[in-house]
Amino acid sequence: MADLERFRAEAAAWLDANAPKEIRGIELDPDKGGNWGGRRATFDPPPMKDWLDRCAAKGWTAPEWPREYGGGGLSPAEAKAVDQERKRLGLPEPLVGFGLTMIGPVLQRFGTEEQRHEHLTRIIRGEIRWCQGYSEPDSGSDLASLQTRAVRDGDEFIVNGTKVWTSYGDLSDWIFALVRTDPDVKKQEGISFLLIDMQTPGVSVRPIQLISGKSPFCETRFDDVRVPVANVIGEINGGWTVAKALLGHERTMIAELFGAQRGGSRSSGSSLGNLARHYLDAPDGAPLPDAVLRDKIAAAEMDTRAFHLTVQRARDAAKAGHQPGPESSLFKVYATEINKRRCELAVEIAGPQGLGWQGPGFDAEELARTRAWLRSRGNSIEGGTSEIQLNIIAKHVLGLPD
Ligand SMILES: Cc1cc2nc3c(=O)[nH]c(=O)nc-3n(C[C@H](O)[C@H](O)[C@H](O)COP(=O)(O)OP(=O)(O)OC[C@H]3O[C@@H](n4cnc5c(N)ncnc54)[C@H](O)[C@@H]3O)c2cc1C
Repeated sequence: MADLERFRAEAAAWLDANAPKEIRGIELDPDKGGNWGGRRATFDPPPMKDWLDRCAAKGWTAPEWPREYGGGGLSPAEAKAVDQERKRLGLPEPLVGFGLTMIGPVLQRFGTEEQRHEHLTRIIRGEIRWCQGYSEPDSGSDLASLQTRAVRDGDEFIVNGTKVWTSYGDLSDWIFALVRTDPDVKKQEGISFLLIDMQTPGVSVRPIQLISGKSPFCETRFDDVRVPVANVIGEINGGWTVAKALLGHERTMIAELFGAQRGGSRSSGSSLGNLARHYLDAPDGAPLPDAVLRDKIAAAEMDTRAFHLTVQRARDAAKAGHQPGPESSLFKVYATEINKRRCELAVEIAGPQGLGWQGPGFDAEELARTRAWLRSRGNSIEGGTSEIQLNIIAKHVLGLPD
């Protein structure tokens, strides 16, 4: 314990000495959600680049990853101390993204030594932004029915097909994609997990506009794209195992994202109680006049807090290198349901001001709240729908029959 406290003090001193003053206490643009890195990364404010580079050099963009790939080599307890001290000092995360949360952990488990050295180091330095090529126009929940074909030609595959709902495909450098390498066997047994550089000729990306007015999704097409066979992760035709492992990490990431979030909505930054005081013009310290609303807010805040602590406890109990299993579906369902509930409640509290779309009658926070509410509808779809999560929980957690 004494060692951990000493480490914590040293970590705080390092963070304090190395964080540029311009990034202290800044509110990051909620739409961007932090620094995603990549070849086309923009840094707002510009000293975020120094912050990224300094943390990357120390391995603290990926504090728990092995040192041999450039990670921090910290224990889970030490990594948590770094995270807590960073937050206490009001410093943003140096790097976020699917490299750190999804493909990185999978490469550590299934990648060859060469693949790990090539990709993990670039993820840690924030040089490559990754996106996910799983869903197709006719394959969502029934993911194993995917039709994107990869036909072998010597040391390469020739890939043809279309992926859809590729989040941030237009901003990403590499895609981890599921492709069909054997069409003549049981559908799960003919899939490979392939890494594709999106600058390869034949890859094209088209943004898709959403109800929220934003366009974070893309359709990604592959037309005779040549990809080295060496880019397969795991066994050829063994991609389904790798794909499921990655989904465990994705669902855990979603749970941690919403589990850590205690504001009135992703974009409001204030608690639901503060929001209600503002719109009901209620004085500080006195109970809110509307008892029904008061009850709803108290229940939502308590459920959020309890969930946050549960996620923390699960994280603390996990050993280094822990691989999330089907229980990640439990966390994903609850996290996304509670986020939807909070966003609904925030809009209800704001009344007519909660339904602004554009125009002078609404301030920026109100417009962001409406869009966050609409965006929250997608939470129970992305990473696998809630219905699919409930099926997984029934079968693989509770052991119920089909
Ligand atoms: C915000 C967001 C981000 C996303 N990002 C990505 C990404 O980056 N990369 C990517 O590859 N995909 C991404 N997706 C796609 C997502 O994974 C799929 O939308 C999802 O898996 C559902 O597939 P579908 O849309 O084809 O719906 P369908 O599979 O057609 O499902 C339609 C409805 O039927 C229900 N249903 C289907 N099968 C069953 C069943 N067996 N039992 C009970 N109910 C069932 C579903 O729950 C759903 O309500 C994203 C989606 C969203 C909303």
